[in-house]
Amino acid sequence: MSLQSKTALVTGSTSGIGLAIARALAQHGANVVINGFGKPDAIEKERAGIEAEFHVRAQYSAADMTKPEEIAAMVAEAEREFGAVDILVNNAGIQYVSAIEEFPVEKWDQIIAINLSSAFHTMRAAIPGMKQRGWGRIINTASAHSLVASPYKSAYVAAKHGIAGLTKTAALELATHKITVNCISPGYVWTPLVEAQIPDTMKARGLTKEQVIDDVLLKAQPTKEFVTVEQVAAIAVFLCSEAASQITGINMPVDGGWTAQ
Ligand code: NAD
Repeated sequence: MSLQSKTALVTGSTSGIGLAIARALAQHGANVVINGFGKPDAIEKERAGIEAEFHVRAQYSAADMTKPEEIAAMVAEAEREFGAVDILVNNAGIQYVSAIEEFPVEKWDQIIAINLSSAFHTMRAAIPGMKQRGWGRIINTASAHSLVASPYKSAYVAAKHGIAGLTKTAALELATHKITVNCISPGYVWTPLVEAQIPDTMKARGLTKEQVIDDVLLKAQPTKEFVTVEQVAAIAVFLCSEAASQITGINMPVDGGWTAQ
């Protein structure tokens, strides 16, 4: 399968799942726009590495997914530079773990903005071009938490259930335009996002690090293994293929059986 002549924009792709998706799409020939925070040197190394390894063009956008005007400018810049955004992957996301009554209001707002509203803003900006060209793939990184809940993750679970609904709505609106819209819902994937929530979960539940990994994280996952970023990226590549052109509006779990329970 070749994605040559396609351009993919992947939000939150300076690390973890987003970086793996951007690399996998580039491996199949797509030019990529990567986005997210991090040390400038490390980001430049990733960007240049993608170009050198996969012989595609890679650009970096520093747009902040809490800022609608920066999101619109990122999509416009990608369209100017590459002529199109054919594949849009809404992947940027953060987590915060706390009881609702202690949940900081600014954290709630930030999670809803990054994990949910940013996808509305990117789609709003990218859909007109996709419609014009008569082809598009929109993939949203949701989560097992778009299907089931866990305590102390109110904003995250609300945002992820929201993105599952937004995915279905967009799929229906775009069904006759050869634009598919789907979400991928990973279980626990070992990335900086998961590592970073361990101390707060230890505090919220009064557990050791090992107990959080075994009794909280992998407890939910019947396979007792973390999902890998490459496994999630492989699903994203498949959803971009012609074989997947009749798959739209789905929420695809990659969760070691978590949501089968
Ligand atoms: P990560 O922390 O490795 O990556 C998150 C990315 O988002 C980074 O590139 C970061 O710079 C970027 N980001 C954060 N705030 C941003 C902002 N305001 N503007 C632009 N970019 C921003 O985490 P990850 O685990 O790779 O998570 C990626 C996605 O996968 C998230 O949506 C997350 O909810 C989802 N997810 C992760 C897991 C998991 O177990 N790791 C499970 C299910 C879903």
